[in-house]
This record gives sequence, C-alpha cells and structure tokens, in this order.
Amino acid sequence: MADCIFCKIVAGEIPSTIVWEDDRVIAFDDIAPQAPVHTLVIPREHHADLSDRMGADLLGALFAAVPKVAEVKGVADSGYRVIVNNGADAGQLVGHVHVHVLGGRRMVPGMLRFEDE
Ligand code: 5GP
Ligand code: ZN
Repeated sequence: MADCIFCKIVAGEIPSTIVWEDDRVIAFDDIAPQAPVHTLVIPREHHADLSDRMGADLLGALFAAVPKVAEVKGVADSGYRVIVNNGADAGQLVGHVHVHVLGGRRMVPGMLRFEDE
C-alpha cells in the first residue's frame, strides 16, 4: 500500500534490522525501542489492523513467528511481553498491523496506562 511505512520496510525501500522472516511474516527491530528488546512482527501483506481481512491462517503465521523472534533475540527463557495496539484508543500509530515483542528487562505486572490519568 502506498505511503505505508511498514509496506516500504517489507519492500526494502526503508532500511530495517531484520530479525526473522518467512514467506508471509517479517520481524524487525523497532526504531525507537522501549525495552532492551523491542521487535515488531508484521505480515508482509498490508492489513490495517486485526479487523482488516486477517484470516486465521495469516493470524496464525503472525503469532507463530513471535516465539521464533523471542528465540533469536534471546528472551525466550527470560520472558517477554506481546502487545498489539489495535486502533485509535489503543494508540496504534502505524496503520499496518504489527505485534510488539518486548523484553530483556523485568517489567512490573499490569498493563494499562490511560491518556487522561
Ligand atoms: P504503534 O503505536 O502503531 O503500535 O507502534 C508503531 C511502532 O513503529 C512504534 O514503536 C515506532 O517506534 C515504530 N516505527 C515507526 N516508524 C518506524 C520505522 O520507520 N522503522 C522501524 N523499525 N520502526 C518504526
Ligand atoms: Zn502496509
């Protein structure tokens, strides 16, 4: 899709540090990491979010890549957090569905912080 940053990464038009890939999924390090390990896992095909024509096969391939990425990044045993920001209220900034894999540092339990707090 034109003007999609992540489609441009898939096409190799924007450089990225690729961590893992197969024919449907590609994983690369986040440009502004929020943890020692912060990798994004995306489908090669453009889908805006989880509600955008994501079939079970592609969803399966996307999430099956997560433990492989964790292995490559060395956090499979120590643990990691998996986040999908889906849509405006979740703070999704890039409109190409992506899974954040975060780890390498102990996190406090709990997940949510709100803009109006
Ligand atoms: P979102 O808020 O949409 O869930 O997260 C988008 C993520 O994409 C952010 O963590 C941001 O740092 C990352 N990002 C945005 N542009 C680029 C880019 O050009 N390259 C890489 N590697 N990551 C990017
Ligand atoms: Zn895209």
